[in-house]
Amino acid sequence: MDLAEIEAIRREFPILGREIAGRRMVYLDNSATSQTPDCVVKEITRLYTHEKANVHRGVHTLSQEMTDLQEKSREHVRKYINASSIEEVIFTRGTTEAINLVAASFGSRFKAGDEVILTVMEHHANIVPWQLLQNRTGIVLRVVDINDRGELDIDQYRSLFNEKTVMASFCHVSNVLGTINPVKEMTEYAHSRGVPVLIDGAQASPHLSIDVADLDCDFYVFSSHKMYGPTGIGVLYGKKKWLEEMPPYQGGGEMIGKVTFEHTTFADLPFKFEAGTPDFIGIAALSKALDFIEDVGMERIASHEHELLEYTQKRMEAIEGVKIYGTAKEKDAVISFLVGNSHPYDLGLLLDKQGVEVRTGHHCAMPLMDRLGIPGTVRASFAVYNTLEEADMFLKALQRAVAILE
Ligand code: PLP
Repeated sequence: MDLAEIEAIRREFPILGREIAGRRMVYLDNSATSQTPDCVVKEITRLYTHEKANVHRGVHTLSQEMTDLQEKSREHVRKYINASSIEEVIFTRGTTEAINLVAASFGSRFKAGDEVILTVMEHHANIVPWQLLQNRTGIVLRVVDINDRGELDIDQYRSLFNEKTVMASFCHVSNVLGTINPVKEMTEYAHSRGVPVLIDGAQASPHLSIDVADLDCDFYVFSSHKMYGPTGIGVLYGKKKWLEEMPPYQGGGEMIGKVTFEHTTFADLPFKFEAGTPDFIGIAALSKALDFIEDVGMERIASHEHELLEYTQKRMEAIEGVKIYGTAKEKDAVISFLVGNSHPYDLGLLLDKQGVEVRTGHHCAMPLMDRLGIPGTVRASFAVYNTLEEADMFLKALQRAVAILE
């Protein structure tokens, strides 16, 4: 993409014009949450001011319009991820809730001694729900290690499968290392052993095209707020054959067929898994975020972000004292790093004083930090609206921070 195109995109994000510490802000915390374009914000305002009514409950016009908008967005998501039916698209509060749903509901069929395969690079959202299940049922967690570049040890992954394996759950892209995992091959192998898979796509969905039919995964989960959409909305894709068998996750309104004090029947998919009033405004506005991504084009987004990654990482490697964690051959636009023995928080504060917003700490991946033998990292992560000029501003700020820390 040329600068004029990126400038046009940037105009959709007024927040990018902010100043921090008296300087032009450089926002490089996109892995935590991306900024939201005007088209999404305007849609949210329009929905609140012209369309708000509870969904699936009313015969009145407003309720029917809002229900249509919510369900149109579900169809948009279906198409976007290439699911075969809207029954396979469940709205949740985010990736975290989607994984909790699968662990609690699909996991209710597991018994003591059954094994679930995870990887050492998982976000806590793909560890703790399985540990809660472990506490309830006595399942065993097996963990795939990484090599020095931060790539999964695929031989070890294969070797962990045995007759007790009931599930494999792994991220598509690591939120710390940026590693893009070979999830299609991993799924293929798991299926060859009769094991279903869940893919945590929280960090992949903003940067890669997602095709659940091609991946053939059993579950795929992601969050709207990381892909230019509203906060508080997530998606669980699940194969219909599993979702039909699974018990509801939560009980309440919207997810029922008939209720008596003696017996309750449940609604059909996808509503069986959507208890209570959903964030129908956010769900409807998510469709605008998908429009935004589709208008720019995922291939152009990915190639622009890759250019930023290569440009920045190469120059960071030349700064004395900087150590980068995660140098996989297939890597997303995320750079985790440390400088000498300095604490990530000190570095983060020195960058913030120069207007550069990066994330510091364990990034909700404490087991990975233990594996790397570090307390945390500083993480710079890019989105479509970042520019090479901003990469230079970040590099300059980093050099100043390094000089101060020395
Ligand atoms: N999985 C990964 C890989 C993530 O990076 C994150 C968030 O950073 C999550 C799960 C949790 O996402 P959310 O907090 O939106 O539920």
